[in-house]
Amino acid sequence: MTLSGADRRRKEGRGAETASRSRDRAATLIGWYDRHRRDLPWRAPPGARPDPYRVWLSEIMLQQTTVRTVAPYFEKFVARWRDVAALAAADREDVLREWAGLGYYSRARNLHACAGVVARDHGGVFPDDVAGLRALPGIGPYTAAAIAAIAFDRAVMPVDGNIERVVARLFAVDDELPRAKSRIQALAATLVPAARAGDAAQALMDLGATICAPKSPACSRCPLARDCAACARGDAETFPRKAAKKTGALRRGAAFVLLRADGRLLLRARPERGLLAGMSEVPTSAWSPDVDKRRARRAAPTLSGARLRWRLVPGEVRHVFTHFPLALDVYLAHAPRGARAPKGARWVALADVHAEALPTVIRKVIAHAGVIGTRAEGAGLARHGVASTRVR
Ligand code: SF4
Repeated sequence: MTLSGADRRRKEGRGAETASRSRDRAATLIGWYDRHRRDLPWRAPPGARPDPYRVWLSEIMLQQTTVRTVAPYFEKFVARWRDVAALAAADREDVLREWAGLGYYSRARNLHACAGVVARDHGGVFPDDVAGLRALPGIGPYTAAAIAAIAFDRAVMPVDGNIERVVARLFAVDDELPRAKSRIQALAATLVPAARAGDAAQALMDLGATICAPKSPACSRCPLARDCAACARGDAETFPRKAAKKTGALRRGAAFVLLRADGRLLLRARPERGLLAGMSEVPTSAWSPDVDKRRARRAAPTLSGARLRWRLVPGEVRHVFTHFPLALDVYLAHAPRGARAPKGARWVALADVHAEALPTVIRKVIAHAGVIGTRAEGAGLARHGVASTRVR
C-alpha cells in the first residue's frame, strides 16, 4: 500500500514527535540519576570511568540475586582478587569457596573460566562491545548489554527485572510475559540517550529498585510520572502482566550427617555436571518426587569394619530451588575414631567446614543435625547463610 503525500507527512510528524518524547524521557532520567543515584560498591564515582572488571563481577553476582546479598561478596572478591588477572590465577576451589552461599554455582565456575579467557586471550582487557562480551563464558545477552552500556557507554539498554517493570508500566504493555519481552526490549531501547547510555541504564535500574516498586510504585516521587501510561490509568501495580507460573513438584530425599569421634565430618564432591555441580555435600539420596522414606534411607553410606546406627533427626530441611522445592530427612550417625572414609568421600574437621564450598541447602542440613557446636564453627556456617531461611 502506498501512502499519499498527506499521510506520509502525518507519519513523519508522528515519528519526529515520538523521537522528541524519547529524548525528553532520557534527559529526565539522566537528570534524576545525577541527583538520586544509589551509592553501590561496584559503581564508579560520578564522572569517573567505570572499571570493566568491577562492572563484570557485579553483573555476574547480581544475576538472580539482590544488591544487599551481593554487596559483601563483591567487597570480599575485589579485596582478594583486585583485577581479572588475579582472579584468573586463583585456584578454582578457592573461588567456589568464596562464592558459597550466593547460589547458582555455575556462575562461579563460569566466572573463573571467563577470567581465564580474558587474561589469556585478551591480554587482561575485556572486549568493549556486545558481540565480544557475548563470546565469553557465562555472559548472556543481558549481561553483555549491561557491561557494554555501563563499562563502555555503548548505546544499548540491558533489560533486567527492574527495567522490565518500569518500561512495562511507562508504556502500559498489556501483553503477558514472557511473550512481551521483545516488545519491552524495543521500547526500552527508545530510552537510550545519545550520550551516557550506561547512566541511563543505571537510572532505570535505580528507579525500579527505589520508586517503581513491584507492589506499591511511588508515582508521586517518580520523574517519569507525567509521561507514564500505567500511572495515568491508575493500575500501575498490575504491570508487567504475567502468565501463571508453573512450579515444579516437591522432591524428597535424605541427607546423612556422619561425625567421626575425633570431630570430623564426612563430605564428598557432587558430580561435575548438573545441579550444584562440583560443590561439596554430605552424602544424600537421590532427590525425586517419588522417593519414599525407606528407599531414601537405604542410600546411607557404610563404613568397612564399623556398624553405623543412623538416627532420624526430628523435623526436616526445606529448600526452594528455582525450578522445584525440596524436603530432606536428615539422619545422624557417629563413626569411631580412625574409621576410613568410603570411596569418593573424605573427613573434614568441623572447624574447617565453614571454608568448604557447601551449597546453602547442605549448610542447612548440617545445622539441622546440630553437629556444629563451638562458636567459631557456628559463626562460620552462619556467615554463609545457614541461619537464614530465605532461599532464592
Ligand atoms: S509513574 Fe509510577 S508506574 Fe510509572 S514509572 Fe514512575 S513509579 Fe513506575
